[in-house]
Amino acid sequence: MYRTHDCGALRAEHIREHVKVAGWVRFSRDHGGVLFFDLADSYGSTQLVFDPDAMTDGADVQTLARTLNSLGRESVIAVSGIVRERVPGTADSRNPTGQVEVLIESAVLLNTSKPMPFEVADQKNSLLPGEDLRLRYRYLDLRRVQMMQNLKFRHKLISSARRFFDSEGFIEVETPMLTRSTPEGARDFIVPSRTIPGRFYALPQSPQLYKQMLMVGGMDKYYQIARCFRDEDSRADRQPEFTQIDLEMSFVNEKEVQTTVERLLAQVWRTIYGTELQIPFARVPFKDAISRYGTDAPDIRFDLEIVDVTSAVAPASYEVFKKIIGKGGIVLCINLKSPLLSSSPSESSSLGRKEVDRLIEWAKGEGMSGLTWMRLSQEGLSSNIVKYFPLEVRDTLVELMGAELGDLLLFIGGPRAQATKAAGALRVKLAKDLGLVNGKDHRFVWVVDCPLFTKDAVSGRLEPFHHPFVMPSNGRLDGGEEPATIGGLSYDLVLDGCEIGSGSIRIHDPELQREVFRRLGMTDGEIERKFGFFLEALGYGAPPHGGIALGVDRLASILLGCDSIRDVIAFPKNKRFQSLLDDSPAEVEESKLSELQLLSLAEGEDETRARKTRR
Ligand code: ASP
Repeated sequence: MYRTHDCGALRAEHIREHVKVAGWVRFSRDHGGVLFFDLADSYGSTQLVFDPDAMTDGADVQTLARTLNSLGRESVIAVSGIVRERVPGTADSRNPTGQVEVLIESAVLLNTSKPMPFEVADQKNSLLPGEDLRLRYRYLDLRRVQMMQNLKFRHKLISSARRFFDSEGFIEVETPMLTRSTPEGARDFIVPSRTIPGRFYALPQSPQLYKQMLMVGGMDKYYQIARCFRDEDSRADRQPEFTQIDLEMSFVNEKEVQTTVERLLAQVWRTIYGTELQIPFARVPFKDAISRYGTDAPDIRFDLEIVDVTSAVAPASYEVFKKIIGKGGIVLCINLKSPLLSSSPSESSSLGRKEVDRLIEWAKGEGMSGLTWMRLSQEGLSSNIVKYFPLEVRDTLVELMGAELGDLLLFIGGPRAQATKAAGALRVKLAKDLGLVNGKDHRFVWVVDCPLFTKDAVSGRLEPFHHPFVMPSNGRLDGGEEPATIGGLSYDLVLDGCEIGSGSIRIHDPELQREVFRRLGMTDGEIERKFGFFLEALGYGAPPHGGIALGVDRLASILLGCDSIRDVIAFPKNKRFQSLLDDSPAEVEESKLSELQLLSLAEGEDETRARKTRR
């Protein structure tokens, strides 16, 4: 037996017991022949002492001393000894085992460690080595207490979700990794087939089609802790593979899916925090989210709502606004209530004249054409531009914004989409600068009634807002309606301003599904080729169904306050989607490529291209 206790277990009640502990030597110090070690494992760290004078007669002190003196950092040892109270004044109250230590009687060296590329011992973030180095030696990084805690937290989240689903009668089903493409708006990772040369699987962007076909299969309530693969341009904090809590249910409406997720998260809350999560969550229609918060992923932990004041300021002679409105743009306003300004936690975060100037600079840096302000004083609205605003306009503004004495009104104008986005960003910046959010306060909100389609800004092509399987809000497409006005029975779950889940009621009528594909510009041939199997499945009595998927990595990283989702993934890729640990993606021997006939395919391709250019 290597150990009787783990390194986090020993307490005062164990004093005088003979124990065995095993772990990694994290620290060692020599106090004039008396050696101290911090022995660590996944559960904690325990102080070991070798005191030659305290050894019992007949013990081989010399050999033991030699073994212990040779121990390098992160050596793996097993030790037998007796638990004793630490010398008065040396107890460590921050460590649960800090009252006791193990007096070493014998020790076995189980393995040695090469010199460490970086320090594993607990340290401040600022002292952490660069992330590249930590990713290269991720197994060592995982020994850090913080990483260990992150992965344990993630485990708790997933295991409590599993318990919840089990208690509600959901069936966990694994869906294939080698699939036909499932469109979620990203590129597929492609896997060549050896047995059928020239053919390829796609790694699933999500189990969307399979979970829907499980409903056709009568599965009723499905869930999976599902791995998804999306080859996206490496945007900030994305991973090419990530994990979703994926679920699908038959014979449900949107509300029923949403309340299921609320109960799920309430259970997770109870398990992790031991507190009751407030449910139901607030619900905001997509349109309102955009107009009130400037984003479809609003952070509702603070107010600072955006108000469209375009028509109120239209009569003003202020040139900047006039120009914007003349070109069809809008003017938006945020009211910074005076208590926020005066009672902000630190002096430096209150908004005086200097800070407003700094905000204006920031706005310019963010590509906003500018930011203007007015303050409500005893004399009414005041600022360097109020003279351009007739009294009635000022009165309307005060009323529209619910302004009270001392409030600061901030204005942003521009083309609709740009101004909206800018006002959303301003809102978040203000909340951050004024310390309006604290890391422990979390707020979920449902964004509901999202549109069915959006137009790609560059190509102008119609694209699904979520994916092409969302049921139109009135259960059909009438034809002739402006695509942008068609709603979908979809809902996003947003946590603290981050989208962490997205779901919908699905189309279960194959003809309607075919029509949606057509609206997306697909030819009947293309539809048949890509989705024929799925439309066929819907044709065999698909039940009404709906579901959702929650991003585990994002959820865990927000709850833990991590800077990146990489901190909650055991072996993540870096920003270029490379694994620094095993150096993947890696080259493949030519023999393997030719076995897959990829080379001849590429040659064939070259020839076709050459033929085309010759023509
Ligand atoms: N498959 C969707 C996604 O990955 C989620 C869903 O609609 O259930 O975003």
